[in-house]
Amino acid sequence: MQEERLTTLISSEAIADRIAVLGDEIREVYGGEPITIIGVLKGSFIFLADLSRAIGGDAKIEFLGVSSYHGGTRSTGVVRITQDLRHPIEGQHCLIVEDIVDTGLTIDYLRRMLEVRGPKSLRVATLLDKPSNREIAAEVDFVGFTIPDEFVVGYGLDLGELYRNLPYIAVYSP
Ligand code: 5GP
Repeated sequence: MQEERLTTLISSEAIADRIAVLGDEIREVYGGEPITIIGVLKGSFIFLADLSRAIGGDAKIEFLGVSSYHGGTRSTGVVRITQDLRHPIEGQHCLIVEDIVDTGLTIDYLRRMLEVRGPKSLRVATLLDKPSNREIAAEVDFVGFTIPDEFVVGYGLDLGELYRNLPYIAVYSP
């Protein structure tokens, strides 16, 4: 691991504090209703684990496999589904959990793909938001942190499959 290329942007303590607040906010929106939490693999797996526990209550956990980057540091704009949901979501309150919204293309694609399956509601929670890089007006309901247009790794986010297990978010400088 090339630590010298990493600059801490968000500490693990700051992430934990923010997720506790976000979890309460999200649970308040749904009240006592059950939720289907849909984690977008692979980047959201750590955020999903922490956020789902902070939300509490009745929740199903599902995963969608999506590949939009193909190993580089710029988005290709091509969204590929590598693993679909295992169960129908019709009539359910669904919460898509993303690691980061950048151009907005992935989340826009996923929203359109899932809306036609008839969920009772469909919302999006993202740990990180890079609004300065949007190519499409993507609707995001819950945001952990708004960050500048830098390439970040850690806490689930990778560069060529590395750095996902860093416990904090760091800016990667090539
Ligand atoms: P979008 O479609 O919004 O441009 O990008 C969404 C996906 O691109 C994210 O789920 C993530 O996999 C990847 N991505 C965007 N920005 C970054 C970044 O700064 N770091 C990493 N590791 N992935 C990113």
